[in-house]
Amino acid sequence: MSRIIRFFVGFLVVLSSCTAAPTASNRTVVVSFSVLGDIVENVVGDATTVKTFVGPDSDAHAYEPTPQDAVALEQATAVVTIGLGFEPWLDEIYAASGSKSPVIVSSAALKPIKVDPAAGGHADEEGHAEEEAHAGDAEELDPHVWHDAQNVITMVETIRDGLIAAMPDQAETFRENSTRYIAELQQLDAEIVTMVDSIPAERRKLVTNHDTFGYFAQRYGFVVVGTVLGVSTEGNDPSATEIVALTAAIRESAVPTIFIENMSNSSLIDNVATEAGVTIAPALYTDALGSTDSDGSTYLNMMRYNVTTMKTALQGK
Ligand SMILES: [Zn+2]
Repeated sequence: MSRIIRFFVGFLVVLSSCTAAPTASNRTVVVSFSVLGDIVENVVGDATTVKTFVGPDSDAHAYEPTPQDAVALEQATAVVTIGLGFEPWLDEIYAASGSKSPVIVSSAALKPIKVDPAAGGHADEEGHAEEEAHAGDAEELDPHVWHDAQNVITMVETIRDGLIAAMPDQAETFRENSTRYIAELQQLDAEIVTMVDSIPAERRKLVTNHDTFGYFAQRYGFVVVGTVLGVSTEGNDPSATEIVALTAAIRESAVPTIFIENMSNSSLIDNVATEAGVTIAPALYTDALGSTDSDGSTYLNMMRYNVTTMKTALQGK
């Protein structure tokens, strides 16, 4: 890894020397991935450019940053992340870039869920201990905070305050935009609660490729029966024993269907569905938006689509 970082730094020096310094009218807020990018765009409005590293339908867990990303971090007016160990690659490239840009950790005011390896997917094997040792406790926390709309309201407040600190002349714009967006998020949250109410409680059970719905389940009254992968899509595939245990859990829970995801899937989930005798539902938008013409083009759209799709699929036959 250190060899790659040295390469990044070398490249950065070359690129920086031939790139003009940003001006007040040329500000960029850099964001780690698409879902958060849309949330940030709602706060900043049109006056400031938002640059998102990991785009639609792409897996932010598995992203490999480019030398150009290091330049973007170095020149950013502000950087917005999820935190909670979601973007270890960004932490590394930020450090390597020598950037002094303020980093707004949007989850900072939230109460994180601790990952329970027994409840969600398989535990990470020791094979990754060397690579992940630096992550410390963050690795134990679930970073998928955005699937709870109330969390996103708190995140918007954190992002708003961080952006005002970085760009005080835009304070009024950021406050107005946030107030409008928070009202939309409140409405979204209420809609989800109403929609979930019409799903019988014993059918509010989720099986997905990776463990992304912990906060969603906690907020909206679902149970995550199990996942093929753990809380990250990175890491080792589950063992045969773990697959057998997941298949048994699916049979026991009597769920009619399991869900694939728009940004990451293994052929393992097909095998699990076949073994458990359940169908595979349409893909949910989990760790990424969809393309601009899709049902998951924005955070608000992806959440509505997900709950509608769950409701149809879980009501089954
Ligand atoms: Zn994830």
